Amino acid sequence: MTLKSLSDSVFYIPSPSNIGVVKCNGNKVALIDSGLDASTGKNLLKLLRKYELFPVAVINTHFHSDHCGGNRFLKEKADVKIYASKVASVVIEHPFINSYSLFCGVLPVDTLRNKFVMAEPAKVDIVIDEEGEIAIADKRFNVIPLPGHAPGHVGVAVDGVLFCGDAFLSERVLSKVKIPFNVHIGEQKRTLEKLLNLDFKVFLPSHGGPVENIAEIVKINKKAILKVENAVIESLEKEEKTTETIMSDVCAALNLTIKDSYHYFLIRAAIHAYLSYLSSLGEIYFKVSNNSLIWALNKR
Ligand SMILES: [Zn+2]
Repeated sequence: MTLKSLSDSVFYIPSPSNIGVVKCNGNKVALIDSGLDASTGKNLLKLLRKYELFPVAVINTHFHSDHCGGNRFLKEKADVKIYASKVASVVIEHPFINSYSLFCGVLPVDTLRNKFVMAEPAKVDIVIDEEGEIAIADKRFNVIPLPGHAPGHVGVAVDGVLFCGDAFLSERVLSKVKIPFNVHIGEQKRTLEKLLNLDFKVFLPSHGGPVENIAEIVKINKKAILKVENAVIESLEKEEKTTETIMSDVCAALNLTIKDSYHYFLIRAAIHAYLSYLSSLGEIYFKVSNNSLIWALNKR
């Protein structure tokens, strides 16, 4: 782990999920997200100690495990205060909800009960509004709603830097995941448009390096979403299909191979977001036939 500077008082630790470090007063720092687990938390504390920095708070951008999994360790070892939006705080305190949600709301199979889906639960100390200002020691942070990737997902702005969480992905990550995980495609598209109108020196996604040219990366993210959308529509062009067949068609069209059952459930949820979005636009509709849910294209 290393500490990289973004401005005089704002730093980040490049990680599988980046962690923001903001000097608040003397050697007190606030963190943006906490990484995947206790081991991340341990390495993080070791690094901060080297610079004689002491964490007093973690502001979570959202409830996904790779962003809040270090909360519990940091709370136990460093007595940090945990900040999260109302929706995020429910899942951070009860992480099984995330796991259940990926398995139609019922007790999930074992592969969905790992640390990537269920973080260690941690009590949230301060529930924040999805839009507003928070003060930690001498520092003021602006919380900006950036929904679409997850319910209650927020960006955190301080000193010209916007920590974007998963509101967009780097080009490298996008080319790897192929189907970006978003729960609400309409909101995600609006969030990407919104980013274009925000004036920050640096935009830091959780997965990827700092971005100065936001227009370019927004374009790439919009293109990735459109590609999936088109693949869903193309899959239904000749005939009506089940979700499973659409999924298989979309993966083939995007040259994506599902690695294992855990990956399957993530992709299935991601595809559902597109089906629900396209159906809300009236592009497609669904019906129950022969005890299966069937999707079809609406005639234009
Ligand atoms: Zn996420």
